[in-house]
Amino acid sequence: MDSVRVRFAPSPTGFLHLGVARTALFNWLFARARGGTCILRVDDTDDARSTEESMRSIFGSLEWLGLDWDEGPGFGGDSGPYFQGQRVERHQECARQLLDEGKAYYCYCTREEIQAKREQAQGEKRPYRYDGRCRDLTEADRARFETEGRTRTVRFNVGDSGRIVVKDLVLGDVAVEADTLDDFIFMRPNFSPLYNFTSPVDDADMGITHVIRGQDHMSNTPRQILLCEALGWTPPAFAHIPMVHNLKGQKLSKRDGAVGVEDYRDMGFLPEAMVNYLARLAWSGEDEQEIFSVQELTDQFTLERVGKSPSRFDIQKLTWLNAHYVGLKSVSERAAAVTPFLVEAGHAVDAVAPGRMERIVDAVGDRLHTYADIVTYAGYFFADDDAYEFDPAALKKWFKGPEALAVVTDVRAAIAGIDPFDLATIEEVMREWIEQRGEKVIRVLQPIRVAVTGKMVGPGLFDVLELLGKEVVLARLDRAAAELPELTT
Ligand code: GLU
Repeated sequence: MDSVRVRFAPSPTGFLHLGVARTALFNWLFARARGGTCILRVDDTDDARSTEESMRSIFGSLEWLGLDWDEGPGFGGDSGPYFQGQRVERHQECARQLLDEGKAYYCYCTREEIQAKREQAQGEKRPYRYDGRCRDLTEADRARFETEGRTRTVRFNVGDSGRIVVKDLVLGDVAVEADTLDDFIFMRPNFSPLYNFTSPVDDADMGITHVIRGQDHMSNTPRQILLCEALGWTPPAFAHIPMVHNLKGQKLSKRDGAVGVEDYRDMGFLPEAMVNYLARLAWSGEDEQEIFSVQELTDQFTLERVGKSPSRFDIQKLTWLNAHYVGLKSVSERAAAVTPFLVEAGHAVDAVAPGRMERIVDAVGDRLHTYADIVTYAGYFFADDDAYEFDPAALKKWFKGPEALAVVTDVRAAIAGIDPFDLATIEEVMREWIEQRGEKVIRVLQPIRVAVTGKMVGPGLFDVLELLGKEVVLARLDRAAAELPELTT
């Protein structure tokens, strides 16, 4: 067991984005694979945007994914507090140290002055760089600015730091010239710290050995390394993992639909599938294997096998994986899990007879790719006989000519005569009836399916008929015979 310590440090300013969830997972897998320590830290120094609600949602998503933490809010640990907002005095202490040592300085430039210089640079078509005006202020200048009542930020004196090389565990060596960095601000006018300062200070104080985060933070890393070194610390190792894009190769955003972990939970996905999918989104095992249990992931995960380029989020692949994990659940687990989705869709399931949900789920079988699919494949079992809806596409496809309507009317008598109304007898009578009629099997079964369920997809029709029961089937055939002539013209 080595002493790997990683942290996942979400900002509580929204829900848990899939890309950020993947960062959490990679931290977790990396530490678990090496017997290390996983720390959950809340980067809540952005007061204006941080909310309790967001924090609850992020914690809820992490819990749902099954990611537990050795240290963090609610998990204990000796390196707390784990809310950055509660560590501000320490950040201020470190800022004072840098000021005292001349590694940082107060900047009195006003917003307007900076803006004017920015516009001037734009006009001259050159990149804006802070000109270092406050770097070497005289005592007199400083006193004058103070008397003028100017506010002051704190800038880091990048000076001639030369070339900074980030030895990234995913990207390899990434070199940045220090003079491209500017003397950046790391303390606000009210002497509160900015992210680029809180992060390296807390990482050092918490003994973080590896910072694993999204590539969008790559531009922060050289600054954080400089701050760390200026404070006399050895920077942690870094690993920047690729971003999650949509199928078109753009950053995955709300415009692409659901991008929050909770959305997928609410859509009937399983945490096992999500974890497997997110892991495979930028990491691969040694061969073509796609399906990984959490145990296999923790056994095999290494940063060396994380890809460098952005990964594309493909809901079809996630759905395929999800179907696999749904299939591993027992019928009774599936029956329990689908129930809330039926309720959500407005179906009354309280009075369902014991064992009935299990039989329905069993009949739906591997059509259940997400738990929400139950509504499509079986919602009609819970609807009133005069209230299930006829899918217009189903009507269009299966009620093109008068024959389909005739099937619905004619089959009534045959179905009424089925006794006992069990699967074997239903199948026997129906097959015989179809044979006598000389019609193609599908041209009989599909119109009946649409008539009694409203849908063109679902479990085997004989299962459906048995599960509905004779009386219900007859009532529904009557309803279809009455309503479909009008609906299908
Ligand atoms: N709070 C930062 C974020 O959510 C953390 C970045 C980091 O890992 O340093 O992006």
